[in-house]
Formats: sequence, structure tokens, C-alpha cells
Amino acid sequence: MTFHKLGLSDPILQAIEEKGYTTPTEIQRKAIPAILEGRDIIATAQTGTGKTAAFVLPMLAALSGDRKRRAKRFRALILVPTRELAMQVEDNIRQYGKHLSVASMAMVGGVDLEPQKQQLIDGVDIVVATPGRLLDLAHQRALYFDELQILVMDEADRMLDMGFIDDLNKIIERLPAQRQNLLFSATLSSQVAALAKTVVENPFEVSV
Ligand code: AMP
Repeated sequence: MTFHKLGLSDPILQAIEEKGYTTPTEIQRKAIPAILEGRDIIATAQTGTGKTAAFVLPMLAALSGDRKRRAKRFRALILVPTRELAMQVEDNIRQYGKHLSVASMAMVGGVDLEPQKQQLIDGVDIVVATPGRLLDLAHQRALYFDELQILVMDEADRMLDMGFIDDLNKIIERLPAQRQNLLFSATLSSQVAALAKTVVENPFEVSV
């Protein structure tokens, strides 16, 4: 099995090759085709399984078409529990998207709001955010969700463990109803299953 069989475009395959990956991991083999078809997914996968590329690669494929960016709007949102993970995921997006013109930003707390507001005004396609800072900026009308097409929740179990459920619900209720939802979690506890119920529709379920 090679990455060429998964339906990804040449600029993405080239970036993968430059990273030195030869074979997709199990989560990538299972999740990427379903995501490219536009399905919602619930994926149970630990860190180290290649889960980040499993959602970033098909997301880049979906967003790579030429499209004018509108200030304060973005097409994909990745919610993560911590600043460190936000930075890491955003770094992955830059690497896998290096041959595409897709713009991304990390939106995390503990740093100045102003540069993040300016990045939003300049225009981005993908936002990787911790829930608190995202809501802060939404309340300040620094961002709007009306162009959102893809929502990812990464490490959903950890977000719940950290007490983000109210923030997540506030975010979810602001999103356009028509969107693709990808939920990743290391474990599928009853709390995660309950959250998934409010987020995903007719999901493709994958566990590795
Ligand atoms: P993750 O589970 O997303 O944290 O990824 C774990 C590590 O695996 C990261 O360092 C990735 O760069 C690496 N990785 C992801 N996909 C592949 C692959 N198909 N082949 C080799 N390494 C990979």
C-alpha cells in the first residue's frame, strides 16, 4: 500500500515524500479515503499512530482549490486541548501543505491577541485553536464561522478531561449546520460518545 492509492493530489504526495514517509499508517489507510469522500468520522487512535496526517492530508486536499480568502473567515477549524498540540498540528499543516497555497494559524491563549486578530484580517484557510482563545476572539467579533466547512476535534477525550465541554458546546452551536466533522480521540469513553452524538452525523468509525 502506498500513499498514491489514497486519492491525494501530487503537491501533497510530494510533501509526504519529502518527509520521508513511504507507507501510510493504519489510521491513514482507513480514515483518508472516507474523509476525502466527505464522510464524518469518529476515529479512536493514540498519539504516535500518525493520526495528525490522517486528518491534515485530506483536509489540505479539500481546501487546496483556488479560493479568495475573506477577512476573519476560515474554512477549517481544528480544536485541540493544549497550546503545545496546536503548535505541533499547525507545524504539520505547514509541512504537508508546503507545495499548496493554504494559509494556517495557531490560535492559542497566553499570548497577545493583536497578532492573531491581524492574521485573521489578512486571511487564513485553517485555524488550529484551543477552545478558550477561539471563543474570546469570536466574542470580540474578530472572527466569524459562516465559511466553515470542516471541523476537527483532536484529542477529544483530553479536551473533556480538561473541562472544555461548555466551551465546545458554545463553539458548536455557532457553526454552520452543513459541515464535515472529524472527531479523534485516544479513548471512546461515554463522555466522548455523548459529545460525538452532538457533533457527527452518520459517521464512519475507525479504531486502531
Ligand atoms: P502522530 O500520531 O500524528 O502524533 O504522528 C506520530 C509520528 O509519526 C509523527 O512524528 C509523524 O511525523 C510520523 N508519521 C506520520 N505518518 C507517518 C507515515 N506514514 N510514515 C512514517 N511516519 C509517519
